[in-house]
Order: sequence, then structure tokens, then C-alpha cells
Amino acid sequence: ATPTALMVGIGLGARAGILIRNAEALELAEKLEALCVDKTGTLTEGHPEVTHLLPASGISTDELLRLAASLEQSSSHPLAAAIVRRAEVSGLALVLPGQVVAEAGQGVSGDVDGRRISVGSPTYMHALGISLDTALVQPLQSSACSVVAVASNNSIIGVIGVRDPLRATSRQAVERLAAMGVEVVMLTGDNRATAEAVAHEAGIIHIEAETLPGDKSAVIARYREQGRRVGMAGDGINDAPALAAAYVSFAMGAGTNVAMEAADVTLMKNDLNSVADAIMLSRATLRKIR
Ligand code: ADP
Ligand code: MG
Repeated sequence: ATPTALMVGIGLGARAGILIRNAEALELAEKLEALCVDKTGTLTEGHPEVTHLLPASGISTDELLRLAASLEQSSSHPLAAAIVRRAEVSGLALVLPGQVVAEAGQGVSGDVDGRRISVGSPTYMHALGISLDTALVQPLQSSACSVVAVASNNSIIGVIGVRDPLRATSRQAVERLAAMGVEVVMLTGDNRATAEAVAHEAGIIHIEAETLPGDKSAVIARYREQGRRVGMAGDGINDAPALAAAYVSFAMGAGTNVAMEAADVTLMKNDLNSVADAIMLSRATLRKIR
């Protein structure tokens, strides 16, 4: 039989916008020692915007944007959506790409106007054997922008900076969790330098960066093999396996249904403070039972 106190705790959570799947989840939350947090959409607002358009010499800003956005129409990635939106705002006529090949968590390649266009992370360019000048991307990374490199026929034609602002509440939530003895770890597919800049803004010390979507759950598994009770907070389709691997998992309510279905706790407020609230609720509830 489920102790009444646990049912009361779940009810109190629901009233605060913290939807706890079952009594077991509420019991386990008390014991969390660490929390992996997805960067995009969890720590940040999840609405990235293009902030920099840096064409290589011999190409115009509009042409860089037109080629990249034409290809990105085929991608559902949030960075792709930001680039397409910016092209639409600029009134550019986009063309449909052909022969599109997408690499999850890296980027996408396809034919635009008879050229082979590739758009994606510095790691993706490296994997394609395309050299990218670090001097070009370093200023973007240190200002917490994600770097989207654009290549045509295997040479870089420019770089696009995309910035997704930190949620106003993230820093406070990280401080609260730390004060409660829960170490926060940022988990992201983004490049290390950008991740470090965002982590610095959020007050996070520990980072797992350049993690491919399929490897996020392996990071959680590694922590658990070390005997650590690690939770996971995320929002995306990509996050579902990591949520499932965690000791206790939290999904942001504005995120995907896939994440919510995988998670033990769904947060209606899209605020990491709700994770701290859930752990406090768990601790208070279990104190009553003991
Ligand atoms: P996160 O863990 O922050 O949610 P993802 O794993 O979804 O990030 O993506 C990791 C990185 O891959 C992005 O920061 C971006 O650099 C690159 N990337 C993936 N898909 C695309 C795309 N369609 N266009 C541009 N960049 C992309
Ligand atoms: Mg995400």
C-alpha cells in the first residue's frame, strides 16, 4: 500500500505544476546526488535566433543565408528553424534542396543550385574533411553562440552564429540545487567552447559537451556505473533515452511529448527551479513517513 503521505506529496506537487508519475518517483527524488541538464530548451529558452552572419570573402551575406536556409528547410533542428526564419524575415527566395543527408546532432548536406551545400557544427565539418579556421569561430563561441558552419563543394563559405538565451530562472535554480547537495552537469551536443560560455552564465561547473544524441544515455549510464544517483532533465525527442536511463527524470512541459512520456516528472513551468522544488517536496514527504 502506498503511504498516504506520498499521495499527499504527489497532490501538492500537481498543484505547483510538478506532475509526478508515481509514488516511487517521489521517493527516489530525495536521494538524487547529481542532475544532468540538457542545454537547449532546458537551461535555455529553446528559441534560438541568428545573431551573426559572417560570409567568407567573395560571397554576400544574403547569398550565405539563402544557401544555408534553403538546405535547412529539410531539417527539424531548432538551429535550422532559426536560420530559415531569418531568411524569411530578410525576404529571400529559398529553393528546395535535393539529395539531403542528415547526421543527427551534427548537421545536414544537400544539393542547392547544383552545388553540394553542408551546414552544421565544426565537428561535422571536421568529419567531412572540410577545414574551418578556428579564428573565425572562436569569437562566436566565447559569446555563447552556437556555431553553424556553411560549406559549398567542400569549402567554407561562411559561418552563422545562433544564440539561444538562458532562461531567466536557470542560474538561480542551479544555485539552489548546489546548495541542496545536487551537482548540476550540463549535457549537450553543442561544441565545448559554446557550452562552457553558457555554463559560465548559468553558474555550472561540470560539462559534458559534443555528446551525440545517441550517446547522452551512455553518459547517464557511466555516472550510474560509478554508483552515483544521477537524474536527467530534458525536453527533446533526443533526450528520451537519457531520461529513461536516469535514476529520476524530469521533462520540461514545453518540450516534446516523447520526453514527457519518458520522464518520471513533468514540469509545467519550464523552469529548472521546479526540479529543486520537486526534490524539496520529496525530502519533506519522506521526513513525514519516517
Ligand atoms: P543539444 O544537445 O544542445 O540539444 P543537438 O545534439 O541537437 O544539441 O545538436 C548538436 C549540434 O549539432 C548543434 O549545436 C549544431 O551545431 C549541430 N547541428 C545539428 N543539426 C544541425 C542542423 N540541422 N543545422 C545546423 N547545425 C546542426
Ligand atoms: Mg535539447
